[in-house]
Amino acid sequence: MHRSDIIVIGAGIAGASVAAELAAAGRSVTLLEAESQPGHHTTGRSAALWILNYGPRDARIFSGASRGFFESPPRGFAEHALTHRRAVLNLAPPGQEAKLAAMIAEGEGMRELTPVAACALCPALKPSYVAAAAVEEDAFDIDVHALHHGYLRQLRARGGQVVTDARAEAISRRDGTWEVATPAGRFSAPLLVNAAGAWGDVVARLAGAAPIGLTPMRRTALLVDGPPGHDPSAWPLIGDAAHTWYVRPEARRKLMLSPADETPMEPCDVQPDELDLALAIDRAQEAIELPVTHIEHRWAGLRTFTPDRSLAIGPAKGTEGFFWMAGQGGYGIQTAPAAAQLCAALVLGRDPAAIGLGEAALLTDPGRLVG
Ligand SMILES: Cc1cc2nc3c(=O)[nH]c(=O)nc-3n(C[C@H](O)[C@H](O)[C@H](O)COP(=O)(O)OP(=O)(O)OC[C@H]3O[C@@H](n4cnc5c(N)ncnc54)[C@H](O)[C@@H]3O)c2cc1C
Repeated sequence: MHRSDIIVIGAGIAGASVAAELAAAGRSVTLLEAESQPGHHTTGRSAALWILNYGPRDARIFSGASRGFFESPPRGFAEHALTHRRAVLNLAPPGQEAKLAAMIAEGEGMRELTPVAACALCPALKPSYVAAAAVEEDAFDIDVHALHHGYLRQLRARGGQVVTDARAEAISRRDGTWEVATPAGRFSAPLLVNAAGAWGDVVARLAGAAPIGLTPMRRTALLVDGPPGHDPSAWPLIGDAAHTWYVRPEARRKLMLSPADETPMEPCDVQPDELDLALAIDRAQEAIELPVTHIEHRWAGLRTFTPDRSLAIGPAKGTEGFFWMAGQGGYGIQTAPAAAQLCAALVLGRDPAAIGLGEAALLTDPGRLVG
């Protein structure tokens, strides 16, 4: 039996970040990952941008509070910058003008653009597609791999251990201690954090805790060449106000396309669906001059939501020593630094208001989702 103070289940961005924060407080932490590589599931399939005006109120609080970490991470956290500035261009084709107006009204720092100015930001845009436009300049790409591995390195440097091929298969509680059985051995600790992403409710049931109604939803993406004669590397991320597609510039003049799909699924090693790939291409081509002759890479990931789309962070109602770090949805990367700090504070019994996250703690209390 390997003993520690805290077991964290799931080594995606949620588990890695909270494990590193807990280890910083001097606790011995064991991070258990079912797969042979941390990041095999959603974290490794993300295409992350930091966009302040994205998600519900709690996600926006976390994103705002995480900004400093992304822009100036601790010394030695990563070998190069975690961020790369990239604006977001929101388009309203004819019929979506009211949706765009609502986005501008409720968002912070969004600036209306004329269709001509929008086309100047992305010269391959079809002018006939753009009835109205708005730009959010204060946004950036996040290097997800560097962020994730920075946290895993921090955890190890603080004495924590990462155990892969260690799917939690049985979880029991005896005399105030959790015991977790995995193919890599048995682990025990008085406290357990459930950061199992799409499998969050599965892990809760194993431990006898009440599930919180998590729904994993498939999101599809593909990589294609940018349009001939254009260098899209400095283009903004471009999408429509109704969130039915987006296009994101990638390295080597490539573009990532997504139909912004949200198909409810059982937790699994999700693969892209042909229809969603076709939809992504079709919708991008409605807006952009983009011949697609070849798909270089295609993938899908599960974005897992609670019923109200806010995160679930904190103690499980009625189950002693069991904490949630789940429901990261489509904002688990951009919220990770602050969300991990909140989760660590709650596990350690500290006041979230002391780190400026009192309101976020109320909004993300998992108790709201039970009973
Ligand atoms: C195409 C796409 C684009 C995205 N874009 C953005 C974006 O722009 N900005 C943003 O912030 N977010 C974005 N996201 C969302 C973001 O990727 C997720 O919110 C985040 O990765 C979720 O992290 P996680 O750690 O909760 O889940 P995961 O990375 O899935 O980690 C959960 C881990 O738990 C492990 N596990 C499960 N069950 C067990 C068990 N029984 N025992 C041990 N381990 C277990 C799994 O193997 C897995 O590794 C995007 C996602 C996708 C798919």
